[in-house]
Amino acid sequence: MSKEIWQPGIASCFSQSAGVWNRRVSDGSRSGTARCAAPRGQTGPARENGLRTGGKRMRTKRELIDRARELGFCDIGFATAEPFDSQLEILRERREAYAWTEAAGLDLTAGADPRTILPEAKSLIVLLESYLDEAYPHALEGHFGRCYLDDDRVTKDGMSKRLARFRAFLREDGIASKAPFHLPQRLAAARAGVGDFGKNNFLYARRAAGRSSWVLPLVLVADRAFDPDPPTVSVGCPDWCRNACIAACPTGAIRGPNRLDPRRCISYLTYYGEGLTPRELREPMGLWVYGCDRCQNVCPRNIPWMARERHVNARVAARADAFDLSRLLAMDKAYFLARVWPHMFYMSERDLWRWHMNTARAMGNSRDDRYVGDLTAALAGNADARVRAMAAWAMGRIGGDPARQTLEGHLSREDGLVAEEVRLALAATRD
Ligand code: SF4
Ligand code: SF4
Repeated sequence: MSKEIWQPGIASCFSQSAGVWNRRVSDGSRSGTARCAAPRGQTGPARENGLRTGGKRMRTKRELIDRARELGFCDIGFATAEPFDSQLEILRERREAYAWTEAAGLDLTAGADPRTILPEAKSLIVLLESYLDEAYPHALEGHFGRCYLDDDRVTKDGMSKRLARFRAFLREDGIASKAPFHLPQRLAAARAGVGDFGKNNFLYARRAAGRSSWVLPLVLVADRAFDPDPPTVSVGCPDWCRNACIAACPTGAIRGPNRLDPRRCISYLTYYGEGLTPRELREPMGLWVYGCDRCQNVCPRNIPWMARERHVNARVAARADAFDLSRLLAMDKAYFLARVWPHMFYMSERDLWRWHMNTARAMGNSRDDRYVGDLTAALAGNADARVRAMAAWAMGRIGGDPARQTLEGHLSREDGLVAEEVRLALAATRD
């Protein structure tokens, strides 16, 4: 995976916002205050309005804004490129909770200083992409985080093209830019005034996408200074919301307002969880196979946008069958690489077992006996004990005679971890 790639999922969900916003703006933004309701600061004299050597006029901030809009981005903001000191402080404080990021190849400490990304960095340009302008097939929304459903970071046939065009527009004017994957994207977006935070740590658009959280900030580090916009590093939740997101988080990952334990978040667990999912998390993880939208689904700040009529995204609808649970449980490496990985790529083919395990767990939590045949095949034929163990658990959860007969048949054939799960599952079917 290219290093020059934004990372809306893991980095933004677990690291880029968690707790960082709730500091005073000590991270290089212009103002020391919290929420700024001022109109977008894009009308003041832009610093770049001078003349380049040779007399050619440099592009103005207004022209960049217009180009971003032409390219379909729902908003754009500008910020200074000072280090994100508050992010560094959080990373130091929560070293243990974020230790996994190093193993995952995310150097968040380096990402907190834009000058490690581009030594001549002068500004951050934040483009905002709305990813819920179109609806997704209902069956997919129940199992996959929406931000992954039309993710073209591998296929590069959608938003990536528009981002490339915007960067080419900058380049034509002599502006070098980088699109880093490990910079605190949401915090940068709030510094640039395009959104504020919910207590669930997500960024909420300030003037686009119905002010919802269904947006991705795409941050460019640029080597030209622009007038920064008033920052909006603050929490925008209404007083009357009784922390619906915290109450709704099934795994207790949101420990309190803006305090996330990334290791308990379903998104993390589905693509980075080690080993067989602990028993106490299996049922709370529900039907999610990859990612989780629950704390956004329940949020009243998102309801108006979600209530709008919208057409179904045809690109996603066309490939929905490839993500059918039965197909995912049975998929081999060739299928994974051709049909799944180009769209959901946080796990490589080496982690195929985790895809199978997640799918088996989701089938079990569906309590739908049409999956007993798929689970029986996995229990009999999957080479990975973690998958067979989860298939046994899932059959115990679904219950019924066919599931019980399969489990009884495997009692003497398995040993160790799987045998234990088969025994427990059989007991569950008798409850
Ligand atoms: S609701 Fe889901 S995405 Fe939100 S914090 Fe909890 S587990 Fe993570
Ligand atoms: S559910 Fe309530 S507390 Fe949580 S982000 Fe939404 S408005 Fe804020």
